[in-house]
Amino acid sequence: MRRSFKFLLRPTVKQAAALAACLEDHRTLYNAALEHRRTAYAKAGVSIRYGDQSADLKHIRADDAGGQDRWSFSSQQATLRRLDKAFRAFFDRVKAGRTPGFPRFKGRGWFDTVEWPKDGDGCRWDSQPEHPSATFVRLQGVGHVRVHQHRPVKGQVKTISIKRESRRWFVVLSCDDVPAEPLPATGAVAGIDMGVASLVTTSGGDHLANPRHLAATADRLSDAQRDLARKKRGSKRRRKAVARVAALHAKVRRQRLDHAHKAALALVAAYDVIVHEDLRIANMTRSASGTIDAPGRNVAAKSGLNRSILDAGWGVFLAVLAHKAESAGRELIAVNPANTSRTCARCGHVAKENRLTQAVFACTACGHAAHADVNAAINILRAGLALREAAQAA
Ligand SMILES: [Zn+2]
Repeated sequence: MRRSFKFLLRPTVKQAAALAACLEDHRTLYNAALEHRRTAYAKAGVSIRYGDQSADLKHIRADDAGGQDRWSFSSQQATLRRLDKAFRAFFDRVKAGRTPGFPRFKGRGWFDTVEWPKDGDGCRWDSQPEHPSATFVRLQGVGHVRVHQHRPVKGQVKTISIKRESRRWFVVLSCDDVPAEPLPATGAVAGIDMGVASLVTTSGGDHLANPRHLAATADRLSDAQRDLARKKRGSKRRRKAVARVAALHAKVRRQRLDHAHKAALALVAAYDVIVHEDLRIANMTRSASGTIDAPGRNVAAKSGLNRSILDAGWGVFLAVLAHKAESAGRELIAVNPANTSRTCARCGHVAKENRLTQAVFACTACGHAAHADVNAAINILRAGLALREAAQAA
């Protein structure tokens, strides 16, 4: 299986300057390639492709001695491919009949990653293996940078990326053939319902809540964004406000990922089979103000940005859960979430009126009363087990 490892870099002052220059030159390249595509299309109706731009790289490098030619050809190609991907996504959305935003120029602070697509090509992981106590990564144009390697790397290193997060630098390794570490069977199964008040509720009645500090950071982020909107363009105060928003965004991401890891680990340790809602379907049926099934008071209260921050946690959580489940040899089943929150888990009666409030489920047919999320999680579990049985019978 594939897995990534992220470590803090400890560059020297000179190396930190080189890392910043490397990132800045890749950003410039990205923007120049975007400009090239835009003008060619606007003036001549010509579509520029990745292959054309990759061929141009040779000239760009030749014309910019001591500049672009300092960096790895392959990492520059990876940056051009990244732009190509943005264009493909743009055209896919146009084809789907939507009106997406045109790929944007990356301002300073909005371009934070450079990727080397192959270990050994312009970069080398563990570049000084003979060093007795420290790990280094060699990056073309930067040198051997010291890595704070806090855990072992497993599998085969495929790609190496550097990432800037506010003032710190990280290296991210994407590894193939990482061996699985199966956990002993528990004999237990669970359905999980994903929500706003609780990130996850299990069919057994456990609530894994979104941590309070995440909601607090989300509140601070909405304040900071409101504050930013009031600042004058080009002012020093605005620059400070932008930095504050970016730092809070990074903090939210860290907290969310950390919590997703903890919640996923707890589930994977406890259950052999975990059934969850298919988020692709769920997102289509979810309105901005809540779920179509249950636009309750609790959901409405958490509106706007704050809500979207908590929402975004579901995708992250499921990605982490999928990884951990695969590694532990657990089975993960996705089911269509339609009606799971308005169906009675006892008698099967389906009615919108069953859902009195966001938190309370009370069946109008049989009188069954339960926590609404637990009721939904039980329905999700049933749907998953039925799918599983059907698949085994086939
Ligand atoms: Zn009922």
